Amino acid sequence: MAETIFSKIINHELPADIVHEDEEIIAFRDISPQAPVHVLIVPRVEIATVNDIRPEQAELIGKMVLTAQKIAADEGIAEDGFRLVINCNRHGCQEVFHLHMHLVGGRQLRGISAG
Ligand code: AMP
Repeated sequence: MAETIFSKIINHELPADIVHEDEEIIAFRDISPQAPVHVLIVPRVEIATVNDIRPEQAELIGKMVLTAQKIAADEGIAEDGFRLVINCNRHGCQEVFHLHMHLVGGRQLRGISAG
C-alpha cells in the first residue's frame, strides 16, 4: 500500500502530539479536532482499510480498542462516555488510507447520523 502521512508520524519524521506509543500502536491528537478530545489510534503496521484486516490481526484490533479505553481514562472522559469510529473508503469518508480509530469525546455528541 502507498505510504501515508501516518507512516511519517509513526517514524517520527513528522511532528504529532503523541499520547500513547507501544510496540504495536501509536496514538496522537487529530490535527483538526471535532471535540475537546479527538485522538487517532493507529497500528504501526500498514493496513489500508477495515477491508484489509486479516483474521490473524484480530488481536491487534482488540488492542486498539483497549488503547482507546486507556486513553479515555487518562483524558478523564471514560465515565461520561465517548465514541470510537473507523471510517472505511469513500462512503465512509476515509481520508487517510492507513487504518485508524477515532476516539472522540469531552462533550455531548449528537446521535450518529445515517446521512
Ligand atoms: P479519516 O477521514 O477517518 O481518514 O480521518 C483522517 C483524520 O486524520 C482526519 O480527522 C484528519 O484531521 C487527521 N489528520 C490528517 N493529517 C493529520 C496529521 N498530520 N496529524 C494529525 N491528524 C491528522
